[in-house]
Amino acid sequence: MELGFPAGRVEDDHRVILHFDMDCFYAQVEMIRNPVLRSKPVGVHQKYLMVTCNYLARERGVAKMMSVKDALEKCPDLVLVKGEDLTFYREISYKVTELLMSYCPLVERLGLDENFMDVTELVENRRRHTDVSELSFVGHIYRHDVSSVAVQDHVGLALGSVIASELREVLFSRLGLTSCAGVASSKLLAKLVSGTFKPNQQTTLLPPSVPHIITSLTGANRVPGIGYRTAERLKALGVVSVRDLQLFPLRQLVCEFGEAHAKRFQSLACGIDLSPVTPAGPPQSLSNEDTFKKISTLSEAESKITELLLSLSERMRKDGRLPQTLKLSLRRSSAPSRWFNRESRQTPIPTHTAHRIINGCPEAVPQLVSIAMKLLQKLVDQRIRSSAPSALERSDPSHMSTPDPVRSLLIPELPPDVDLDVFRALPQHIQSELMTSFQRHAASAPPTDDLITAEEPASSRRAERAAYRVEADRPHA
Ligand SMILES: [Mg+2]
Repeated sequence: MELGFPAGRVEDDHRVILHFDMDCFYAQVEMIRNPVLRSKPVGVHQKYLMVTCNYLARERGVAKMMSVKDALEKCPDLVLVKGEDLTFYREISYKVTELLMSYCPLVERLGLDENFMDVTELVENRRRHTDVSELSFVGHIYRHDVSSVAVQDHVGLALGSVIASELREVLFSRLGLTSCAGVASSKLLAKLVSGTFKPNQQTTLLPPSVPHIITSLTGANRVPGIGYRTAERLKALGVVSVRDLQLFPLRQLVCEFGEAHAKRFQSLACGIDLSPVTPAGPPQSLSNEDTFKKISTLSEAESKITELLLSLSERMRKDGRLPQTLKLSLRRSSAPSRWFNRESRQTPIPTHTAHRIINGCPEAVPQLVSIAMKLLQKLVDQRIRSSAPSALERSDPSHMSTPDPVRSLLIPELPPDVDLDVFRALPQHIQSELMTSFQRHAASAPPTDDLITAEEPASSRRAERAAYRVEADRPHA
C-alpha cells in the first residue's frame, strides 16, 4: 500500500526506543503480595468495576472494565481484590523504573505500568563488540518471520531486541513481574508495537512496516498522543480515521489546534514521533485523592481529609524531602469540562510542621488537617459567593447536622466507580472507552444540577460523587 506521507523520515530516525508494559499490573502486584493467588483467577476491582484481571481470569471470559457482577457470572470462583489503595502498586511501579534506570538513565514513565527507554547509546556500545553474523532478533518481528529478516539491515533494532529481552528477564528475576516490550525507532512506534503479542512477549517494528501498523489503528483516537478531547475535536472536523488525519489540510488543522499541535498530530498519524525520552526524575509533588458518595457536613469532609493526609504524610516521611506547599483540590459538577477540571487552593506548610512530617511526629497530621480545612473553607466560600451569595451567611459550618455548602460541591465527574488516580494510570484507549460509555450513560440519565439539594430523594443520587485531593509540593532534594 502506498501512502502519501514522508515515511523516509521514519527511517531517518536511528534511535532505538524500548517500551515496557507490565502484564495486568495490579493483578501481578496482588499475586506478588499473596502468592496463593498465582494459581487462581484474580480480578482487581474499584468499587463495582474490574480495573484489571490476571490471565487465568481472562481465559474464563473476565475482561477489564467489566462490572464485578458480570465478571462473577463469567467466573464464579474469581478471587476479587480491592484495587482502591494504590500505595503498593505505586511502590512497585517506581521499583520497575528505578531498576530500568540502573541500566540506562533515559527512562520515561507513562502511567504506573509503562516505561519508555532510549537505549540508542547502549546499542552503539554493543555494536562495537558484536559480531553481526552471530546476531539475531529476540522475540517477534511485526509482520515478519524472524528467520526471513536480514539482521545486517537492522543491526540497531536487533540489538535493541536483545537488550529488551535481557531487561525483561531482569524485571522478572528481581521483581517477579512479567512484561511485554516493543522495540522501534520512536516512542510512538515502540508503544504501538509492544502489545502485538501478549503476555510476556516482545515485538520489534521494522521501518517498512510503519505504514501498516499506523493504518491498522481503528481510528485517529487510537493514536498514542491523541487524547480523548483532541479526538472529539477532530471528529467535529470530520476526521475519524488515521487516514483522514494524514490527508486533512494542515492549514485547517492549524486553525483548530495551533501550529505546534496541528503538526504534531499529523506527524503522529504518519507514524513520525521525534519526541525524546524524557526522564522525569523524582516527583515534584505527592498527592492522594479519593472519590466517594455523598458528604453532607464539614465533619465528614474533615474525616475524609484526615484519612487522605494520614497516608500522604506517611509517603512524605518516606520520601524525606521537606514539603513546602499544601494544595487542596475539589472537583464539582458545574465545571465547564466535567472530566479533569478542578479547583484548588494552596498555602505554604509552616517549617515546624514540615519537619514534624518528615520525622513522623504524630502531631503533624492534625496540623495538616487544620490547614487543609481552612483551604476547604476558602474554596467553599468562594464558590458560594460566585453562585449563591446568601447561602454561606445562612449556613453554619460548625453545626454538624446541618447540610452545609460542602454539599454543593458534590459532583458527577468521572465514570461512576472509577478513581481518578487509577483512571489516569489506565491506558489511553481504556480511558476513552470509559468516557464514551459514561457519556452514553449520562445522556440517558436526567441532567444533574450543580447544587444537589438535601431534599433530593436518595434514589436520584446516583451520581453524587465528591473528590478531595491533597497534594504536597517539594523542592528538589
Ligand atoms: Mg500493562
